Amino acid sequence: MSHTVLLTDYAWPDDSIERAVVEAAGMRLVVGRAEPAPAADIAALVAAHQPAGIMTCWAEVSADAVAASTPLKIVARLGVGLDNIAVQAATARGVWVTNVPDYCVEEVSDHAVGFALAWTRGLVHFDREVRAGRWVPASANLRRLAALTCGIVGFGRIGRATARKLAAFGCRLLAHDPYLSGEVAGVACVDLATLLSQSDIVIVHAPLLPSTHHSINRERLALMPKGGLLINVSRGAVVDTDAVIEALQSGQLSAAALDVLESEPNVPTALLAQSGAMLTPHVGFSSDASLVELRRRAAEEVVRVLQGHAPMEPRNAPTPQA
Ligand code: NAD
Repeated sequence: MSHTVLLTDYAWPDDSIERAVVEAAGMRLVVGRAEPAPAADIAALVAAHQPAGIMTCWAEVSADAVAASTPLKIVARLGVGLDNIAVQAATARGVWVTNVPDYCVEEVSDHAVGFALAWTRGLVHFDREVRAGRWVPASANLRRLAALTCGIVGFGRIGRATARKLAAFGCRLLAHDPYLSGEVAGVACVDLATLLSQSDIVIVHAPLLPSTHHSINRERLALMPKGGLLINVSRGAVVDTDAVIEALQSGQLSAAALDVLESEPNVPTALLAQSGAMLTPHVGFSSDASLVELRRRAAEEVVRVLQGHAPMEPRNAPTPQA
């Protein structure tokens, strides 16, 4: 009997790449709607189709969803973070959880560097000014990136790529990562308070975990030199949005560049009111090349497991089922 694979949702125009990989392996692809449905609807979809494999982009694959399909063998994240998958429930049921950890390292690090340059060179600010009919070069308040210190919070794959790229601009670099100390990849690893107190630009690349929720908060923003830039391209809830808005209002931050928001897709009105806010709609991962790689590799992982092989990117060690 051929396996059924469920694609719960997708953040691109169609399911052509996933379908090509799954159907070439003789399996059937069932697809939810593009926008992620609520968790209960996903669980109902799983119960109705009894998939052996689930691919999810943003939709929540809850413990109920994991329990709802008897033949389920793998839940594959079309992305990196696993915060929308009930990993423990999957592990207990003997179901693999996989992701594609490195498909967008170049894109997210480019996004962070792009935000840094947009701030130092006033690219977003002046584009808004010129469109509003103001051609006032004398108002420029620009910075020399080579003279600044950039602090990277979370020094994993993406953080290190950002450091490598920023090094070419000649700025001083610091990093904070609880698992690293000394000099790593040519960058001094310091505690978070030291990083914040010395960095004109703070770039958040840490994952969302219970220990990182709101780890960039009021008290920590107050440690930064006045008038700096905060960049968040990891997960919204790592940063306390209300604290960022207050810091922009007071001038403690001159700018905040956010690709992710804890309230996304809703954007707080108070944030929109801040001219120092540079906002992108969670697209740090996205490019022509990264999306093709992501979709192909996630679908190949599902096929690999359903053909009886171990996954290449397991994020759990499923309990063998009796
Ligand atoms: P990674 O696992 O390679 O690196 C994360 C690093 O953060 C690790 O070195 C880890 O030790 C460190 N870390 C853990 N707890 C920390 C803490 N309390 N403080 C500081 N650092 C801590 O992951 P990555 O590939 O570099 O991705 C980083 C994050 O970026 C992901 O977790 C994901 O949420 C986010 N991301 C966002 C986008 C986007 O589109 N904006 C795309 C991909 C990934």
